[in-house]
Amino acid sequence: MREDLVAAIREVIDSSAFAGGPFVAKFEEDFAAFCGSSYAIGVGNGTDALWLSLLALGIGPGDEVITAPMTFMATAEAISFCGAKPVFVDIDERTYTLDPNLLERAITPRTKAIIPVHLFGQTADLDPILEMARQRGLHVIEDACQAHGAEYKGRKAGSIGISGCFSFYPGKNLGALGEAGAVVTNSEELKNKIQILRDHGQAKKYHHVLIGWNARMDGIQGAVLRVKLRHLSKANDARRAHARSYNQQLADVPDLITPVEAGFARHVYHVYTVRTRARDRMVQAMARRGIACGIHYPIPVHLQEAYRSLGYAKGSFPVSERCADEFLSLPMYPELTAEQLGVVVGELKVLLRSCKEPYASVT
Ligand SMILES: *Cc1c(COP(=O)(O)O)cnc(C)c1O
Repeated sequence: MREDLVAAIREVIDSSAFAGGPFVAKFEEDFAAFCGSSYAIGVGNGTDALWLSLLALGIGPGDEVITAPMTFMATAEAISFCGAKPVFVDIDERTYTLDPNLLERAITPRTKAIIPVHLFGQTADLDPILEMARQRGLHVIEDACQAHGAEYKGRKAGSIGISGCFSFYPGKNLGALGEAGAVVTNSEELKNKIQILRDHGQAKKYHHVLIGWNARMDGIQGAVLRVKLRHLSKANDARRAHARSYNQQLADVPDLITPVEAGFARHVYHVYTVRTRARDRMVQAMARRGIACGIHYPIPVHLQEAYRSLGYAKGSFPVSERCADEFLSLPMYPELTAEQLGVVVGELKVLLRSCKEPYASVT
């Protein structure tokens, strides 16, 4: 893509449209269309997208917002940064997303919103969450930062809740050449509010109707993302093909659980994560063979030092905690070759055989 990206950046330089501006506006139009949403608002990063969504919905001190503890820290930080309190609900053992069966008991009179996280590229089971939210008058904000182009029952991730939040951090399925993010929504009111909040609360230049922030997207990132968006669907298809191949080659390996694509989902495999009780030894052994694996995430948010004041302890969310000990992310990116994938599988199988610890079957 280098030639197209350089041309896009040159165009931004030639027109000096660096902060927000027409290149961001064009990307917003394209990304809203891609998601099947009425509007997209480009912001500085995914954390901004979450934070501004919450602020625009009027969430603040005294309020509680429910999310999953198995996520990147940013989901909870955004809740804390508008003054509200994060309340966690454990994940489903098969999909690794917020378990709708555990939702009701976490709702209190202070609950204002729910943020399901579409972890690893698969959407949470949104219908029961939306139904519970409708009954209780709560907002549903989708954390779609790992789910660009994923689908829930045929609808695009991010387009289903009151807002959908995306990160274009370079490592995401749609990545900028730097930091960027977006909110998508069908609500004109929310769109207007977030547009004002991201630009110092200005309704027009030097007329500040709200106390906002600087959360604008760079012009260069808008131009770059517009080029890269054209390649997203193909790149997601390639990830899906790699996941199928991993699944086939890793089926029936003892002490290994491969990811499950739920019937409601089209998974886009932002990361391809397996589970093994020998995880810590495997990460090191694979690294010694030149294969970089990841751990997403080794400490669930409720056990992070930063959230000690919330009073959670080990045992509060057993599924998330077990997953944090067992998750192992294998190399996954569109350009991965069949040969490379074969090497990863081969090494993984040999190393697992040498770490004998059979997996207790999942219930
Ligand atoms: C990446 C990510 C974010 C934050 O996005 P940034 O662009 O890094 O601020 C939020 N939530 C999840 C689930 C993420 O993966």
